[in-house]
Amino acid sequence: MLSAEECLKAIEIMGESFPDAHSSLTADTDFHFLLAVIMSAQTTDKAVNLLTPKLFETYKTPYELAKADINDVMSLIKTIGLYRNKAKYLVACAQKIVSDFAGIVPQTRKELMSLPGVGRKTADVVLAECFGIPALAVDTHVTRVSKRLRMVAQSADVLKIERTLMKKLPESVWIDAHFRMIYWGRYQCTARSPKCETCPLLGICAEGKQRVKTN
Ligand code: SF4
Repeated sequence: MLSAEECLKAIEIMGESFPDAHSSLTADTDFHFLLAVIMSAQTTDKAVNLLTPKLFETYKTPYELAKADINDVMSLIKTIGLYRNKAKYLVACAQKIVSDFAGIVPQTRKELMSLPGVGRKTADVVLAECFGIPALAVDTHVTRVSKRLRMVAQSADVLKIERTLMKKLPESVWIDAHFRMIYWGRYQCTARSPKCETCPLLGICAEGKQRVKTN
């Protein structure tokens, strides 16, 4: 297992390859960013970004979306997976923001997770991206990269991965670590063909060494 020092070093090396790693979802307000993150579940950010301009233009605020006809929302987001459920979540989320939070996206994980369609990962992404509140959301890329690098135990579930990384890494790098690991998983340590031979982390990566040896 990598030590805390080695984990930090790995995140720094990832930062050299991806110094500007950040969310690829585009949004003009916190509310719209929250909607984009909800829609991005099991869908690419690119697919979400293609439909959001029209959606955001139609529903500028939670108040407008809270009153929306669900069928209108569905037709605006029908190009992404699970759009029926997502449309319901978007409207219900807007309604709760209006009824419980005076139309303002809340800034705590607990409050965010009280919104329909918002799980821990979505809440953490919003906390980090919108409010700069340290959080380390764990998605499929963070899971794969942290396990391959042995930053966390192979048996760790999402919550355990989050807790282990937050313990090993200083709070000041949580947000960067989240985005850098996502980029690392997307472009270097991909699910099917990780580029181990050319990976700058090969020296500290047990899985990479194994893969290079057996190739
Ligand atoms: Fe991923 Fe291979 Fe790099 Fe390890 S050496 S982090 S498995 S790409």
